Amino acid sequence: MSTKTDWITAELDGLRQQGLYNSIRTIASPQGAWLQVDGQRVLNFCSNNYLGLANHPHLRAAAAAAVEQYGVGPAAVRSIAGTLDLHGQLERRLAAFKGVEAALTFQSGFNANLATIPALVGREDVIFSDRLNHASIIDGCRLSGAKIVAYDHNSSAHLQQVITAERAAGFRRALIVTDGVFSMDGDIAPLPEILAVAQREDLLLMVDDAHGEGVLGRGGRGIVDHFGLHGQVDIEVGTLSKAFGVVGGVVAGRPVIVEWLRQRARPFLFSSAMPAPDAAACLAALDLLEASTELVDRLWDNARYFKAEMQRLGFDTGVSATPITPVMLGEAPLAQEFSRRLFARGVFAMAIGFPTVPRGKARIRVMISAAHARADLDQGLAACAAVGRELGVIH
Ligand SMILES: *Cc1c(COP(=O)(O)O)cnc(C)c1O
Repeated sequence: MSTKTDWITAELDGLRQQGLYNSIRTIASPQGAWLQVDGQRVLNFCSNNYLGLANHPHLRAAAAAAVEQYGVGPAAVRSIAGTLDLHGQLERRLAAFKGVEAALTFQSGFNANLATIPALVGREDVIFSDRLNHASIIDGCRLSGAKIVAYDHNSSAHLQQVITAERAAGFRRALIVTDGVFSMDGDIAPLPEILAVAQREDLLLMVDDAHGEGVLGRGGRGIVDHFGLHGQVDIEVGTLSKAFGVVGGVVAGRPVIVEWLRQRARPFLFSSAMPAPDAAACLAALDLLEASTELVDRLWDNARYFKAEMQRLGFDTGVSATPITPVMLGEAPLAQEFSRRLFARGVFAMAIGFPTVPRGKARIRVMISAAHARADLDQGLAACAAVGRELGVIH
Protein backbone atom coordinates (compact mmCIF):
# COMPACT_ATOMS: atom_id res chain seq x y z
CA MET A 1 0.00 0.00 0.00
CA SER A 2 1.31 3.39 -0.96
CA THR A 3 1.43 6.00 1.78
CA LYS A 4 2.24 9.01 -0.34
CA THR A 5 -1.20 10.60 0.14
CA ASP A 6 -1.49 9.82 3.89
CA TRP A 7 -0.60 13.42 4.70
CA ILE A 8 -3.65 14.61 2.75
CA THR A 9 -5.95 12.29 4.68
CA ALA A 10 -4.46 13.62 7.93
CA GLU A 11 -4.88 17.24 6.81
CA LEU A 12 -8.51 16.60 5.84
CA ASP A 13 -9.19 15.02 9.25
CA GLY A 14 -7.62 18.08 10.85
CA LEU A 15 -9.94 20.39 8.91
CA ARG A 16 -12.98 18.39 10.08
CA GLN A 17 -11.85 18.57 13.71
CA GLN A 18 -11.35 22.34 13.54
CA GLY A 19 -14.74 22.98 11.92
CA LEU A 20 -12.97 24.19 8.78
CA TYR A 21 -13.99 21.38 6.44
CA ASN A 22 -16.02 22.82 3.59
CA SER A 23 -19.12 20.71 2.88
CA ILE A 24 -20.36 21.76 -0.53
CA ARG A 25 -24.08 21.63 -1.13
CA THR A 26 -25.64 20.85 -4.51
CA ILE A 27 -28.23 23.08 -6.17
CA ALA A 28 -30.85 21.73 -8.53
CA SER A 29 -32.68 24.92 -9.50
CA PRO A 30 -31.97 28.27 -11.14
CA GLN A 31 -30.48 31.05 -8.98
CA GLY A 32 -33.02 33.28 -7.26
CA ALA A 33 -34.45 34.11 -3.85
CA TRP A 34 -35.28 30.43 -3.35
CA LEU A 35 -33.22 27.40 -4.31
CA GLN A 36 -33.60 23.66 -4.38
CA VAL A 37 -30.59 22.54 -2.33
CA ASP A 38 -29.85 18.92 -1.42
CA GLY A 39 -33.49 18.11 -2.09
CA GLN A 40 -34.90 20.93 0.08
CA ARG A 41 -36.46 24.26 -0.93
CA VAL A 42 -34.51 26.95 0.91
CA LEU A 43 -34.19 30.72 1.08
CA ASN A 44 -31.00 31.78 -0.70
CA PHE A 45 -28.75 33.95 1.49
CA CYS A 46 -25.48 32.89 -0.16
CA SER A 47 -25.12 33.97 -3.73
CA ASN A 48 -23.51 37.01 -5.34
CA ASN A 49 -26.56 37.35 -7.59
CA TYR A 50 -27.04 40.91 -6.28
CA LEU A 51 -29.56 42.02 -8.88
CA GLY A 52 -31.30 38.74 -9.63
CA LEU A 53 -29.85 38.71 -13.15
CA ALA A 54 -28.54 35.12 -13.09
CA ASN A 55 -31.94 33.81 -14.18
CA HIS A 56 -33.43 37.00 -15.63
CA PRO A 57 -35.64 36.42 -18.71
CA HIS A 58 -33.84 39.14 -20.71
CA LEU A 59 -30.44 37.51 -20.14
CA ARG A 60 -31.76 34.01 -20.73
CA ALA A 61 -33.26 35.08 -24.06
CA ALA A 62 -30.05 36.80 -25.14
CA ALA A 63 -27.95 33.75 -24.25
CA ALA A 64 -30.35 31.39 -26.04
CA ALA A 65 -30.31 33.56 -29.18
CA ALA A 66 -26.49 33.61 -29.10
CA VAL A 67 -26.40 29.81 -28.88
CA GLU A 68 -28.52 29.67 -32.03
CA GLN A 69 -26.33 32.19 -33.82
CA TYR A 70 -22.84 31.20 -32.61
CA GLY A 71 -23.07 27.79 -30.95
CA VAL A 72 -21.62 27.03 -27.54
CA GLY A 73 -17.81 27.10 -27.66
CA PRO A 74 -15.29 29.79 -28.63
CA ALA A 75 -12.98 27.15 -30.19
CA ALA A 76 -9.84 29.22 -29.76
CA VAL A 77 -7.96 31.74 -27.68
CA ARG A 78 -8.93 35.29 -28.55
CA SER A 79 -5.62 36.25 -30.19
CA ILE A 80 -5.85 33.39 -32.69
CA ALA A 81 -9.44 32.84 -33.77
CA GLY A 82 -11.62 33.38 -30.70
CA THR A 83 -12.56 37.06 -30.78
CA LEU A 84 -16.19 37.46 -31.77
CA ASP A 85 -17.98 40.64 -32.74
CA LEU A 86 -19.88 40.09 -29.46
CA HIS A 87 -16.64 40.41 -27.44
CA GLY A 88 -15.88 43.72 -29.13
CA GLN A 89 -19.41 45.02 -28.52
CA LEU A 90 -19.31 43.96 -24.90
CA GLU A 91 -15.95 45.67 -24.35
CA ARG A 92 -17.13 48.94 -25.92
CA ARG A 93 -20.32 48.87 -23.89
CA LEU A 94 -18.50 48.04 -20.63
CA ALA A 95 -16.03 50.88 -21.19
CA ALA A 96 -18.90 53.31 -21.80
CA PHE A 97 -20.77 52.03 -18.72
CA LYS A 98 -17.68 52.50 -16.57
CA GLY A 99 -16.88 55.89 -18.12
CA VAL A 100 -13.43 54.83 -19.35
CA GLU A 101 -11.88 54.68 -22.80
CA ALA A 102 -11.17 50.96 -23.11
CA ALA A 103 -12.00 47.58 -21.64
CA LEU A 104 -10.97 43.97 -22.16
CA THR A 105 -12.93 40.92 -21.06
CA PHE A 106 -11.55 37.73 -19.55
CA GLN A 107 -12.96 34.31 -18.68
CA SER A 108 -13.36 35.28 -15.02
CA GLY A 109 -12.47 37.94 -12.51
CA PHE A 110 -9.84 35.63 -11.06
CA ASN A 111 -8.24 35.39 -14.50
CA ALA A 112 -8.44 39.15 -15.00
CA ASN A 113 -6.27 39.63 -11.91
CA LEU A 114 -3.84 36.87 -12.92
CA ALA A 115 -3.64 38.53 -16.34
CA THR A 116 -3.23 42.13 -15.34
CA ILE A 117 -0.81 42.25 -12.42
CA PRO A 118 2.03 40.21 -13.97
CA ALA A 119 1.67 42.22 -17.20
CA LEU A 120 2.36 45.45 -15.33
CA VAL A 121 5.06 44.59 -12.79
CA GLY A 122 7.91 42.09 -12.55
CA ARG A 123 11.03 41.15 -10.63
CA GLU A 124 12.55 44.59 -10.17
CA ASP A 125 9.24 46.08 -9.07
CA VAL A 126 7.11 46.48 -5.95
CA ILE A 127 3.39 45.93 -5.35
CA PHE A 128 1.68 47.73 -2.48
CA SER A 129 -1.29 45.53 -1.62
CA ASP A 130 -4.01 45.90 1.02
CA ARG A 131 -3.59 43.21 3.65
CA LEU A 132 -7.14 41.90 3.08
CA ASN A 133 -7.09 41.79 -0.72
CA HIS A 134 -8.87 38.93 -2.50
CA ALA A 135 -7.02 35.67 -3.16
CA SER A 136 -6.94 36.31 -6.91
CA ILE A 137 -5.09 39.60 -6.35
CA ILE A 138 -2.67 37.87 -4.02
CA ASP A 139 -2.04 35.12 -6.57
CA GLY A 140 -1.62 37.66 -9.38
CA CYS A 141 0.93 39.49 -7.23
CA ARG A 142 2.84 36.26 -6.51
CA LEU A 143 2.83 35.29 -10.17
CA SER A 144 4.35 38.62 -11.16
CA GLY A 145 7.56 37.97 -9.22
CA ALA A 146 7.47 41.54 -7.87
CA LYS A 147 8.18 42.26 -4.23
CA ILE A 148 4.87 42.32 -2.35
CA VAL A 149 4.48 44.84 0.43
CA ALA A 150 1.21 44.52 2.34
CA TYR A 151 -0.16 47.72 3.90
CA ASP A 152 -2.64 47.85 6.77
CA HIS A 153 -6.24 47.37 5.72
CA ASN A 154 -7.73 50.56 4.25
CA SER A 155 -4.92 52.69 5.68
CA SER A 156 -3.63 55.32 3.24
CA ALA A 157 -1.30 56.55 6.00
CA HIS A 158 0.38 53.16 6.27
CA LEU A 159 0.43 52.90 2.48
CA GLN A 160 2.35 56.19 2.33
CA GLN A 161 4.72 54.96 5.02
CA VAL A 162 5.62 51.70 3.25
CA ILE A 163 6.06 53.48 -0.10
CA THR A 164 8.49 55.92 1.51
CA ALA A 165 10.43 53.00 2.99
CA GLU A 166 10.59 51.18 -0.34
CA ARG A 167 11.68 54.36 -2.14
CA ALA A 168 14.72 54.42 0.13
CA ALA A 169 15.54 50.83 -0.85
CA GLY A 170 14.89 51.60 -4.54
CA PHE A 171 12.64 49.98 -7.14
CA ARG A 172 11.98 50.24 -10.88
CA ARG A 173 8.17 50.49 -11.04
CA ALA A 174 5.36 50.02 -8.57
CA LEU A 175 1.65 49.24 -8.47
CA ILE A 176 -0.86 49.97 -5.73
CA VAL A 177 -3.72 47.47 -5.63
CA THR A 178 -6.85 47.25 -3.52
CA ASP A 179 -10.24 45.58 -3.48
CA GLY A 180 -12.99 48.14 -3.96
CA VAL A 181 -15.46 46.37 -1.66
CA PHE A 182 -13.95 43.76 0.65
CA SER A 183 -15.96 40.62 0.08
CA MET A 184 -15.95 39.15 3.58
CA ASP A 185 -16.57 42.33 5.59
CA GLY A 186 -18.44 44.46 3.05
CA ASP A 187 -16.44 47.61 3.79
CA ILE A 188 -15.41 50.02 1.04
CA ALA A 189 -11.81 51.02 0.28
CA PRO A 190 -11.09 54.73 0.93
CA LEU A 191 -10.29 55.19 -2.74
CA PRO A 192 -9.94 59.02 -2.74
CA GLU A 193 -7.23 58.82 -0.07
CA ILE A 194 -5.44 55.93 -1.77
CA LEU A 195 -5.63 57.81 -5.08
CA ALA A 196 -4.09 60.89 -3.44
CA VAL A 197 -1.10 58.78 -2.37
CA ALA A 198 -0.84 57.21 -5.84
CA GLN A 199 -0.89 60.65 -7.47
CA ARG A 200 1.61 62.15 -5.04
CA GLU A 201 3.96 59.20 -5.66
CA ASP A 202 3.13 58.91 -9.39
CA LEU A 203 2.38 55.17 -9.11
CA LEU A 204 -0.10 53.02 -11.00
CA LEU A 205 -3.35 52.41 -9.12
CA MET A 206 -5.54 49.36 -9.64
CA VAL A 207 -8.87 48.64 -7.94
CA ASP A 208 -10.75 45.33 -8.07
CA ASP A 209 -14.42 46.28 -8.17
CA ALA A 210 -15.86 42.74 -8.16
CA HIS A 211 -18.38 43.49 -5.39
CA GLY A 212 -18.88 47.11 -6.50
CA GLU A 213 -20.11 46.59 -10.04
CA GLY A 214 -23.88 46.61 -10.18
CA VAL A 215 -23.88 47.67 -6.53
CA LEU A 216 -22.03 50.98 -5.96
CA GLY A 217 -22.28 54.19 -7.95
CA ARG A 218 -25.06 55.51 -10.19
CA GLY A 219 -27.05 52.55 -11.45
CA GLY A 220 -24.27 50.18 -10.38
CA ARG A 221 -21.40 51.82 -12.28
CA GLY A 222 -18.99 50.86 -9.54
CA ILE A 223 -16.60 52.33 -6.99
CA VAL A 224 -14.95 54.88 -9.27
CA ASP A 225 -18.36 56.36 -10.00
CA HIS A 226 -19.34 56.09 -6.31
CA PHE A 227 -16.47 58.43 -5.40
CA GLY A 228 -16.63 60.51 -8.62
CA LEU A 229 -13.05 59.66 -9.59
CA HIS A 230 -13.53 59.17 -13.32
CA GLY A 231 -10.35 59.25 -15.39
CA GLN A 232 -8.07 59.08 -12.35
CA VAL A 233 -7.85 55.38 -11.49
CA ASP A 234 -5.52 53.64 -13.97
CA ILE A 235 -7.01 50.15 -13.89
CA GLU A 236 -10.38 48.81 -12.78
CA VAL A 237 -10.62 45.03 -12.67
CA GLY A 238 -14.04 43.54 -12.31
CA THR A 239 -16.16 40.46 -12.62
CA LEU A 240 -19.20 39.64 -14.70
CA SER A 241 -19.88 36.69 -12.36
CA LYS A 242 -21.54 38.57 -9.50
CA ALA A 243 -24.07 41.39 -10.04
CA PHE A 244 -23.96 40.82 -13.80
CA GLY A 245 -25.28 37.33 -13.16
CA VAL A 246 -23.11 35.58 -15.76
CA VAL A 247 -19.43 34.55 -15.69
CA GLY A 248 -16.46 36.57 -16.84
CA GLY A 249 -13.94 39.21 -15.92
CA VAL A 250 -13.15 42.68 -17.19
CA VAL A 251 -10.27 45.13 -17.09
CA ALA A 252 -11.23 48.74 -17.78
CA GLY A 253 -9.07 51.81 -17.93
CA ARG A 254 -6.41 53.52 -19.98
CA PRO A 255 -6.30 52.42 -23.65
CA VAL A 256 -2.54 51.90 -23.54
CA ILE A 257 -2.89 49.43 -20.66
CA VAL A 258 -5.69 47.53 -22.40
CA GLU A 259 -3.63 47.41 -25.60
CA TRP A 260 -0.67 46.04 -23.64
CA LEU A 261 -2.85 43.35 -22.02
CA ARG A 262 -4.03 42.25 -25.47
CA GLN A 263 -0.37 41.72 -26.38
CA ARG A 264 0.98 40.28 -23.15
CA ALA A 265 -1.68 39.06 -20.68
CA ARG A 266 -1.18 35.33 -20.48
CA PRO A 267 -4.78 34.22 -19.71
CA PHE A 268 -5.82 36.28 -22.76
CA LEU A 269 -3.17 34.69 -24.98
CA PHE A 270 -3.29 31.12 -23.69
CA SER A 271 -6.84 30.41 -22.51
CA SER A 272 -9.95 30.28 -24.67
CA ALA A 273 -12.39 33.16 -24.84
CA MET A 274 -15.59 33.72 -22.87
CA PRO A 275 -18.35 31.81 -24.76
CA ALA A 276 -20.79 33.72 -26.98
CA PRO A 277 -23.92 33.06 -24.84
CA ASP A 278 -22.13 34.54 -21.83
CA ALA A 279 -21.04 37.62 -23.76
CA ALA A 280 -24.59 38.07 -25.08
CA ALA A 281 -26.05 37.71 -21.59
CA CYS A 282 -23.62 40.34 -20.27
CA LEU A 283 -24.74 42.71 -23.03
CA ALA A 284 -28.34 42.10 -21.96
CA ALA A 285 -27.36 42.87 -18.35
CA LEU A 286 -25.93 46.19 -19.51
CA ASP A 287 -29.21 46.96 -21.32
CA LEU A 288 -31.06 46.54 -18.03
CA LEU A 289 -28.56 48.51 -15.95
CA GLU A 290 -28.51 51.39 -18.43
CA ALA A 291 -32.30 51.50 -18.76
CA SER A 292 -33.16 51.83 -15.07
CA THR A 293 -31.73 51.98 -11.56
CA GLU A 294 -34.70 49.99 -10.24
CA LEU A 295 -32.80 46.77 -9.47
CA VAL A 296 -29.89 48.56 -7.81
CA ASP A 297 -32.32 50.65 -5.74
CA ARG A 298 -34.21 47.54 -4.63
CA LEU A 299 -30.94 45.83 -3.68
CA TRP A 300 -30.03 48.74 -1.39
CA ASP A 301 -33.54 48.97 0.10
CA ASN A 302 -33.39 45.27 0.93
CA ALA A 303 -29.87 45.51 2.32
CA ARG A 304 -30.67 48.49 4.57
CA TYR A 305 -33.80 46.82 5.90
CA PHE A 306 -32.12 43.47 6.61
CA LYS A 307 -29.06 44.95 8.26
CA ALA A 308 -31.07 47.31 10.49
CA GLU A 309 -33.34 44.46 11.61
CA MET A 310 -30.38 42.15 12.35
CA GLN A 311 -28.77 44.87 14.45
CA ARG A 312 -32.07 45.45 16.26
CA LEU A 313 -32.12 41.74 17.11
CA GLY A 314 -28.69 42.15 18.69
CA PHE A 315 -26.43 40.62 16.03
CA ASP A 316 -23.00 42.05 15.28
CA THR A 317 -22.94 42.76 11.53
CA GLY A 318 -19.39 44.08 11.55
CA VAL A 319 -18.22 47.05 9.49
CA SER A 320 -20.18 46.47 6.29
CA ALA A 321 -21.23 49.49 4.23
CA THR A 322 -22.68 47.39 1.39
CA PRO A 323 -25.30 44.64 0.94
CA ILE A 324 -22.75 42.07 2.16
CA THR A 325 -23.96 41.28 5.69
CA PRO A 326 -21.54 39.36 7.89
CA VAL A 327 -23.00 37.94 11.10
CA MET A 328 -19.95 37.79 13.32
CA LEU A 329 -19.82 34.61 15.44
CA GLY A 330 -16.16 34.12 16.38
CA GLU A 331 -15.21 30.47 16.41
CA ALA A 332 -15.60 28.34 13.28
CA PRO A 333 -17.56 25.45 14.88
CA LEU A 334 -20.20 27.92 16.14
CA ALA A 335 -20.53 29.42 12.66
CA GLN A 336 -20.92 25.94 11.16
CA GLU A 337 -23.56 24.99 13.73
CA PHE A 338 -25.39 28.27 13.06
CA SER A 339 -25.40 27.51 9.34
CA ARG A 340 -26.62 23.91 9.88
CA ARG A 341 -29.50 25.07 12.08
CA LEU A 342 -30.49 27.79 9.62
CA PHE A 343 -30.56 25.18 6.87
CA ALA A 344 -32.83 22.96 8.99
CA ARG A 345 -35.16 25.99 9.16
CA GLY A 346 -35.04 26.42 5.38
CA VAL A 347 -32.42 29.16 5.13
CA PHE A 348 -29.23 28.63 3.14
CA ALA A 349 -26.42 30.80 4.54
CA MET A 350 -22.87 29.52 4.53
CA ALA A 351 -20.43 29.64 7.40
CA ILE A 352 -17.11 31.21 6.50
CA GLY A 353 -13.94 30.46 8.43
CA PHE A 354 -10.17 30.35 8.08
CA PRO A 355 -8.44 30.77 5.61
CA THR A 356 -11.12 32.89 3.94
CA VAL A 357 -11.31 35.07 7.07
CA PRO A 358 -8.80 35.26 9.98
CA ARG A 359 -9.00 32.66 12.78
CA GLY A 360 -11.46 33.70 15.50
CA LYS A 361 -13.46 35.79 13.02
CA ALA A 362 -15.73 33.08 11.65
CA ARG A 363 -19.14 34.22 10.55
CA ILE A 364 -22.24 33.59 8.55
CA ARG A 365 -22.21 35.81 5.51
CA VAL A 366 -25.68 36.83 4.35
CA MET A 367 -25.83 38.05 0.77
CA ILE A 368 -28.84 40.26 0.15
CA SER A 369 -30.26 40.52 -3.37
CA ALA A 370 -32.80 42.54 -5.31
CA ALA A 371 -34.41 39.15 -5.94
CA HIS A 372 -35.57 38.95 -2.31
CA ALA A 373 -39.11 40.04 -1.48
CA ARG A 374 -39.71 41.73 1.87
CA ALA A 375 -41.50 38.56 3.06
CA ASP A 376 -38.36 36.52 2.20
CA LEU A 377 -36.22 38.82 4.31
CA ASP A 378 -38.69 38.61 7.20
CA GLN A 379 -38.62 34.82 7.04
CA GLY A 380 -34.81 34.89 7.06
CA LEU A 381 -34.77 37.30 10.00
CA ALA A 382 -37.11 35.06 12.00
CA ALA A 383 -34.85 32.04 11.37
CA CYS A 384 -31.72 34.00 12.37
CA ALA A 385 -33.44 35.20 15.54
CA ALA A 386 -34.52 31.67 16.51
CA VAL A 387 -31.09 30.11 15.87
CA GLY A 388 -29.33 33.07 17.51
CA ARG A 389 -31.35 32.52 20.70
CA GLU A 390 -30.88 28.74 20.64
CA LEU A 391 -27.11 29.16 20.43
CA GLY A 392 -26.94 32.03 22.92
CA VAL A 393 -25.62 34.52 20.36
CA ILE A 394 -28.48 36.95 21.10
CA HIS A 395 -30.92 37.13 23.99
C1 LIG B 1 -15.27 37.18 -6.65
C2 LIG B 1 -14.04 37.99 -6.80
C3 LIG B 1 -13.15 37.74 -7.85
C4 LIG B 1 -13.32 36.56 -8.77
O1 LIG B 1 -14.30 36.75 -9.72
P1 LIG B 1 -14.75 35.50 -10.62
O2 LIG B 1 -15.35 36.16 -11.81
O3 LIG B 1 -15.71 34.70 -9.82
O4 LIG B 1 -13.51 34.75 -10.96
C5 LIG B 1 -12.07 38.58 -7.98
N1 LIG B 1 -11.84 39.59 -7.13
C6 LIG B 1 -12.67 39.85 -6.10
C7 LIG B 1 -12.39 40.99 -5.19
C8 LIG B 1 -13.79 39.05 -5.90
O5 LIG B 1 -14.60 39.30 -4.87
